[in-house]
Amino acid sequence: MTAILLKGRETSRQLQSELAKSFSELAAATSVQPTLAALQVGADAAASGYLRAIRRACQGVEATLRPVELPEESSQGVVKAALAELNEDGSVHGIMVLEPLPDHIDSTQLNDLLSPAKDVDGVHPLNAGRLAAQREPHFVPATPAGAIKLLEEANVDFKGKRAVVIGRSDIVGKPMALLLLHRHCTVTIAHSRTENLPAVARQADILCVAVGRPAMVTGEWVKPGAVVVDFGTTYVDGALKGDCDQKSVAAVAGKFTPVPGGTGPMTNVMLMRNLLSAYRRFVSAPGT
Ligand code: NAP
Repeated sequence: MTAILLKGRETSRQLQSELAKSFSELAAATSVQPTLAALQVGADAAASGYLRAIRRACQGVEATLRPVELPEESSQGVVKAALAELNEDGSVHGIMVLEPLPDHIDSTQLNDLLSPAKDVDGVHPLNAGRLAAQREPHFVPATPAGAIKLLEEANVDFKGKRAVVIGRSDIVGKPMALLLLHRHCTVTIAHSRTENLPAVARQADILCVAVGRPAMVTGEWVKPGAVVVDFGTTYVDGALKGDCDQKSVAAVAGKFTPVPGGTGPMTNVMLMRNLLSAYRRFVSAPGT
């Protein structure tokens, strides 16, 4: 079998043009410029790369990106004060705190402080809780939301299917598992302490991998015909690598998201979708 590649780049382009239209109609009707603030502490290369990607995504929908760059040595108090200011700023509709943060910064405190109404990355406990309890409205973390959209566009059947998610982070693995559960999959969450991981993975009709270990999953871990979603993004000798060994996995899977060009491009467009929700809510009821 040779897997059908689920190309996020194509799907994200189409979504971006739909979003751009919605942003421009709302901006024309309200004269309010949609604005996303991105708070970066220090100059970590991955955070700076993410900022560049967010800038491109904002340009694609004509939203304004307001970068707030604080020096590496900023104290927790200074970072919290900057975040509190963005929470209060009526011209800012969405806020992202870029990771990784310096070691002395406690990201949990920042997530808790973030205004839930501006939390376009879905990291505030209220939004995470609403997702777990399946209540609207909430912001779903952009990466798993993008993966689900990609699977839906490819007509993947969820109901009753066995899904295995490897990775349990708050931003990828856990919300992905919840989104699959809400679509009536039977879900297993695996992690670094899971015993006999290849055998667990082989049970999956839908296998999602969010670990950050290049080529960890090989074709032997994959049930023939399964849908495989690779979230991994690790640079190896300057090249972007996923968590799956592409060649052997694509030979066994039925559908497969490649790296690069699979889940990655979907993330930023879903972030823009979350920004549109925040912006729309703001212009229809400012201050809520
Ligand atoms: P993370 O917070 O580091 O979580 C990694 C998860 O993998 C943890 O739950 C960890 O288990 C598990 N793990 C580590 N080693 C393992 C092993 N040997 N076997 C099984 N599980 C193992 O990472 P993340 O933020 O979720 O990101 C995961 C990957 O997705 C990274 O490559 C990241 O760059 C990428 N990512 C991609 C996008 C995108 O747009 N495509 C967005 C965000 C992240 P424990 O919990 O037991 O430690």
